[in-house]
Amino acid sequence: MTWEERWHPLREEWVIVAAHRQNRPWSGETLALPAADLPDYVEDCYLCPRNRRVSGQTNPDYEQIFVFDNDHPSVAPHAPENLSAVPEIYQVRPAKGVARVVCYSPRHHLTLTELAPAEIENLLRVWQAQYVELGARPEVEHVLIFENKGEAVGVSNPHPHCQIYANNFVFKTIETEVRASREYHARTGKILFQEIIRAEQADGRRIIAENETAIAFLPFFARYAYEVFVAPKKSHPSIDGLSDEEIAGFAEVLKKVLVKFDNLWRMPFPYVMPLHQAPTDGGDYGAFHFHIEFHPPLRKPNLLKYLAGPEIGGGNFLSDTSAEEKAAELRALPDVHYKAEAG
Ligand SMILES: [Zn+2]
Repeated sequence: MTWEERWHPLREEWVIVAAHRQNRPWSGETLALPAADLPDYVEDCYLCPRNRRVSGQTNPDYEQIFVFDNDHPSVAPHAPENLSAVPEIYQVRPAKGVARVVCYSPRHHLTLTELAPAEIENLLRVWQAQYVELGARPEVEHVLIFENKGEAVGVSNPHPHCQIYANNFVFKTIETEVRASREYHARTGKILFQEIIRAEQADGRRIIAENETAIAFLPFFARYAYEVFVAPKKSHPSIDGLSDEEIAGFAEVLKKVLVKFDNLWRMPFPYVMPLHQAPTDGGDYGAFHFHIEFHPPLRKPNLLKYLAGPEIGGGNFLSDTSAEEKAAELRALPDVHYKAEAG
């Protein structure tokens, strides 16, 4: 049983952990798998090769990764300039930026988890290139790369893909992490995220995977039951700073985490996965440490973590699972994907 408040140093907020609230630990139930394997190609999928999208454009017969401008963008270079008339207290401006979609593979049924390590490395390089290209645009202050996976987070098309929002502002979470990292560095001369890695290594119980250059852990201050951070061990403000060796190490650790997630309930594990990267507004972000965060919405195979009074109403998380217990569950799982094991 864990019952305490834990400080989230990157978000600078308390997380209430009341792990005695949970009735019983998960006891092995799994979701029924889809009756048949999904096909490689689906005629009415707007992400499959050679298919026509709503914009009228046709996808190329791509063989690896395919990047295109989102047909339903939330931000665009030519966003409308005729804005709402507002009183002085309100502000309004054009939604300038670039929104893109990155298809990981032409194969409709694959997931990031099932990509070969070399394909994941290739994807990391595409993310590097997109961050640099979009970040260089004068109107873009931050590049948010993220994947929403699974119906639990509202994604109905399983075709493996992520999205990029290159916006004319810095997202709130990044802004907070940047400020916390900067202030910590000014106060101590140290990199905040390095100290978090050091603390996780010293404890050891919450480390999910690790190699020479990368590490994955379920942080002490996790807000979601199966929240996992994946990071290079060396500090880089963005993914762009990673060397070939670090890309390979990062891909290996990332793949291990993804496989464990799927093995947990023997199902494609749903998540929201943002890359936390430094803004591209020309500021000094030497104290920022690039990492990926997984925010899985499920606590059990059929049980969502509902955001309610404390989270939506108050803005702080109440977690009814303990990070140590959940990390132990993930650590105990095999590194071989359940589908590979069956086949
Ligand atoms: Zn498809």
